[in-house]
Amino acid sequence: MTTETKEAVATCETCRAPIYEGEQVCTFYADVSFCVAHAVKRSDELQMLNETVRGWHSPYENRDYDEADLLQRVAELELQIAREGDGPAALVTA
Ligand SMILES: [Zn+2]
Repeated sequence: MTTETKEAVATCETCRAPIYEGEQVCTFYADVSFCVAHAVKRSDELQMLNETVRGWHSPYENRDYDEADLLQRVAELELQIAREGDGPAALVTA
């Protein structure tokens, strides 16, 4: 028996690729995960945040937030996109 078989901690919703512990995973939505290639884009997050600010809907259904946090996140994202360009959002290490 080898111990090389690692158990995936998540599966990409788009390509079904297994995501292993220590890898980057997009956890933007509470109930689904995405690999880095299929992660939610910063521009998508920014658009959703702006819609939330306008009172349309919340992208963070399962998270607490208040308007000040939201506006701060919008400002951070705009800065980040301006500095680094668009890219995957909400990446954490699995
Ligand atoms: Zn994927």
